[in-house]
Amino acid sequence: MANPTPSVQVFCRFRPQNDHEAKQHGEVCCKANETNALIDLAFTDKISESQNAIFTFDRVFTPAHSQSEIFDRVVAPLVTDALSGFNVTIIAYGQTGSGKTHTMEGPPNVSYDGPDAGVLPRVAHTIFSTITSNESSSTENEFTYNVGMSVIEIYLERIVDLLDNSTPQIKRNSDSMLKIREDASGGVYLEGVVEQSVANAKDLITCLETAGKKRSTGGHAMNARSSRSHLVAIVTVLQKRGGVTTTGKMSICDLAGSEMVRKTEAEGQRLKEAKAINRSLSALGNVINALTKDTSAATSSQSSAHIPYRDSKLTRLLQDSLGGNSKTALIVTASMSSVNIAETLSTLRFGTRAKKL
Ligand code: ADP
Ligand code: MG
Repeated sequence: MANPTPSVQVFCRFRPQNDHEAKQHGEVCCKANETNALIDLAFTDKISESQNAIFTFDRVFTPAHSQSEIFDRVVAPLVTDALSGFNVTIIAYGQTGSGKTHTMEGPPNVSYDGPDAGVLPRVAHTIFSTITSNESSSTENEFTYNVGMSVIEIYLERIVDLLDNSTPQIKRNSDSMLKIREDASGGVYLEGVVEQSVANAKDLITCLETAGKKRSTGGHAMNARSSRSHLVAIVTVLQKRGGVTTTGKMSICDLAGSEMVRKTEAEGQRLKEAKAINRSLSALGNVINALTKDTSAATSSQSSAHIPYRDSKLTRLLQDSLGGNSKTALIVTASMSSVNIAETLSTLRFGTRAKKL
């Protein structure tokens, strides 16, 4: 099947300096052009003279870029791929407060139909508008579609089903949760996960809201919890055209905060969380890096043994959606403020290490 989307793309999105950063005497220390991010190292402790660190991406987005521009450039081609039977993964990576959820869902209390809506609601609208137009332009029910939605959270390397209302919240920290299984054709699935059938964009968005409510009632403050767990929304599109069935899957990941937790400060639950997050984020970086280095692995499923998918739940879950025939977009998010320059440098390094351009 002709398909021009590259197998791995890495994007960078900057958010503006906020009031909190300005109050700490922050200054804007990042500049960007189409594909380069320039960080003014004069704002770091180590280097006194002004000197730029330059990071290259497939595309860099600044605060001037709208949600719809990001969707059109990064996500829309992948929705087309998913509707043609590819597995695609879209990942937001960055420190807490850098704009991952803003990018994936929108700002707090966003209207999912409005101009600030993020990736997920736009995916919902685009999938169903494409389906409607394919169905109405075809004769005699040539196309039929089934769309399913699952939403899970990975916390302390345990997978929690956010659409399963039968799981008592109290048990979430102690029980081992959903298990990852592989089918005969190498597809990965979660045993017993709720897959909600969705008939329109509104149904899909309702699933997201249901998942958000369950996630926020786990006994932790919402922000704290969501910054320490990975959220993965999985949208499966089954298409029947004539006698032929194709299945495409979109895995949309809003990752745990990537900030470095100083070992001396963290203890108890915080240390456990930090270890689990570090482990899965470095596994993700290693897998993407291995895929972009080893082109034979990126084109042949036989070579996938070289890719360290099994190092974390996140990479294991995404095994059939990273590499092989699938498409990946990694969006690293960062603040433009000097207050966060150390984390920004670490985030941009993660992005460029994931894919050497
Ligand atoms: P994260 O999910 O990475 O922890 P959020 O997405 O919640 O961070 O962003 C933190 C705050 O910054 C939110 O209020 C969000 O709306 C705002 N913000 C993030 N990215 C942008 C942006 N590109 N433009 C304007 N505001 C942003
Ligand atoms: Mg968030």
